Amino acid sequence: MSYATPVRDIRYALKHMAGFDTLAATGAFDDLSDDLIDAILEEMARYCDEVVAPRNRDSDLDGARLENGEVVTTPGFREAYQAYVDGGWNALAFPESAGGQGLPSTLAVVLIDALNAACMSFAIGTSLTIGAAKAVKAVGTDEQKRLYLEKLVTGAWTGSMNLTEPQAGSDLSAVKTKAEPVGDGRYRITGQKIYITYGDHDLTDNVVHLVLARLPDAPEGTRGISMFLVPKFHVNDDGSPGARNDAHCIGLEHKLGLHGSPTSVMAFGESGECYGTLLGEENKGLRNMFIMMNSARLDVGTQGVGIAERAFQQAMAYAQDRKQGRAPGARTGAQVAIYEHPDVRRMLYSMKALTDAARGICYANAVAYDLARTSPDEGIRESAAGLEGLLTPISKAWSTDRANEITSIGVQVHGGMGYVEETGAAQHMRDARIAAIYEGTNGIQAIDLVGRKLTGDGGAAAKRLIGDMRSTSLAATASSNATVAKAGAALGRAVDALSASTDWLLETAAGDQEAVLAGASPYLRQFGNVAGGFYLVRGALSALDAGLAEREMDYRLTILGFYADNYLSEAEALTSAVTAGSASVAKIDPDAIRGL
Ligand SMILES: Cc1cc2nc3c(=O)[nH]c(=O)nc-3n(C[C@H](O)[C@H](O)[C@H](O)COP(=O)(O)OP(=O)(O)OC[C@H]3O[C@@H](n4cnc5c(N)ncnc54)[C@H](O)[C@@H]3O)c2cc1C
Repeated sequence: MSYATPVRDIRYALKHMAGFDTLAATGAFDDLSDDLIDAILEEMARYCDEVVAPRNRDSDLDGARLENGEVVTTPGFREAYQAYVDGGWNALAFPESAGGQGLPSTLAVVLIDALNAACMSFAIGTSLTIGAAKAVKAVGTDEQKRLYLEKLVTGAWTGSMNLTEPQAGSDLSAVKTKAEPVGDGRYRITGQKIYITYGDHDLTDNVVHLVLARLPDAPEGTRGISMFLVPKFHVNDDGSPGARNDAHCIGLEHKLGLHGSPTSVMAFGESGECYGTLLGEENKGLRNMFIMMNSARLDVGTQGVGIAERAFQQAMAYAQDRKQGRAPGARTGAQVAIYEHPDVRRMLYSMKALTDAARGICYANAVAYDLARTSPDEGIRESAAGLEGLLTPISKAWSTDRANEITSIGVQVHGGMGYVEETGAAQHMRDARIAAIYEGTNGIQAIDLVGRKLTGDGGAAAKRLIGDMRSTSLAATASSNATVAKAGAALGRAVDALSASTDWLLETAAGDQEAVLAGASPYLRQFGNVAGGFYLVRGALSALDAGLAEREMDYRLTILGFYADNYLSEAEALTSAVTAGSASVAKIDPDAIRGL
């Protein structure tokens, strides 16, 4: 089935839901005119649809493999990657002084959406390179920047993120990889990392690994972790790749999905000859790695949006083509397309409404990221930073949880044809599954939301957002458009429920951590549902104001009404799960469960 980047939906989400136009007022960007943005989106769509999307099926069937110690990627990936670098896509949101194009990071997030819809296992490598470039730019020495920054910004070399070890997954305090100074400014690295995305490949002539490791006598736990820059090939003074470093991929994981992405077991210093340089201050590695990880979390959330979009388009096309049953109420007559059946439309509208809501959240998160860094107004910068912090775990976890549901519904729309592999619907479901696991599992995101983002500032950012949601709900309730008014009222009830959960969590946080942690995941789901509804309602109000063409407006309103009926009402019901306390997950003796 042919796939096309949803340029119209992207434009709608940017303009009406996420407030992209506020970025022009910062004065930080030369030109953000509608014409320029349209031109970028059209070119992005051409690249994603014509160059990357045709590789998606092959990436599943003919994934990365290890041959004689070298990783070989899916046929066509090398050409697609070269076109990515030549097109300047990696450099989109870096400042011109660092070899970039000086555009807002929000456009890089849009690219992640489009690229992941086109081929998720191709796209994931690019996010890590962008993250590595951000880390080198933020904390690298002048020499590290001279040798590596432009190569990473342009994507001429890729970056990889090396945190996980067998005993250190969610709990990075257990990292054991060692780094010993050798006296000439370099460090000898020894250890093994697992699950490293694009740890090795044949797309570029060098790979820049950012590795978490411990210095001798480093404090225990996360306070004793430093970050090191470890190239696959050492770099000569003129910037060319030199001798091979002792950092090797010694195995590729066999996975449920994402077959085109080489998930590598990396051995550093098997021969005792792996050398790297300290990136950032000693023992501040985890904090600095978060420079990569925070933007990577939004990227993974947006990955969820992309793969959901792909699954939706495929299911929609199938539903118009596949004929089964008679028209509702008819006993005779020709078979009709399954799209005619209300239950099938329910599935499709669920996919569409959730995808649009997740896109609104992720793009609003990206706009907040940009405002927090570029607004000349300190107050705007501060509130944008609060919103960015709050939305990041929601973007990551809600969008990817929903992507798992959406891709699964996509299989359901296909019936048996979804379960057999030839339609590709099953691939989307398998590929999407990882997004809820890596970059901090969704459970860890929920803990981040209630633990740091909500209580860290005494609830200030959450209450500000809840206040904005209330104002939007009031404005919508007063709308002369009946669908918007009804959705506004539903938003108001959902905001009341979210506010009750928020107050309960803030009150309980000091006394009963276990109760707060027990409610973390339902709270994130509730927050995501309400935030998604908020951005959809905001979008409809703005689009009505702008006089959107009637045909598109009608369709947007149908999706809004569906979302309000199904997901804002769900949000209302979630307060009881959030506030149930630890009793609802009281520890049961495992032997009692097993009947022993
Ligand atoms: C395809 C793939 C690509 C990856 N790419 C990279 C990469 O490029 N670089 C890299 O460093 N890593 C990478 N990872 C590793 C990934 O980030 C980890 O798998 C993830 O962080 C979870 O760690 P774990 O697998 O050890 O699970 P565990 O930490 O063992 O978690 C198991 C379960 O327990 C829960 N849990 C754990 N601790 C807590 C807690 N304190 N409170 C509540 N619940 C908890 C988790 O939410 C999860 O549900 C990748 C993994 C995969 C599969």
